[in-house]
Amino acid sequence: MGEKNTTAAGQSAQSEGGWQWCGQCERASRGGGGYSCGYDDCEGYIGTIWTWEYVRREHPYLPEVPERNVIYTLKK
Ligand SMILES: [Zn+2]
Repeated sequence: MGEKNTTAAGQSAQSEGGWQWCGQCERASRGGGGYSCGYDDCEGYIGTIWTWEYVRREHPYLPEVPERNVIYTLKK
């Protein structure tokens, strides 16, 4: 626990189109590489970041391709 990936090169692990969802701000973004939220005004970090693919598997009502700055609240 608390282990951090310090390899900067690993940040490019997600290919283009790799959307992620942030549990902190409930928005989808790209560019965080699965490690941090793609929005500067959010402190979401690994642990609250989920791949869009994973979130959609659990919540199939979500769109295949999300939009930026749209809040996607996950229904339980
Ligand atoms: Zn966020």
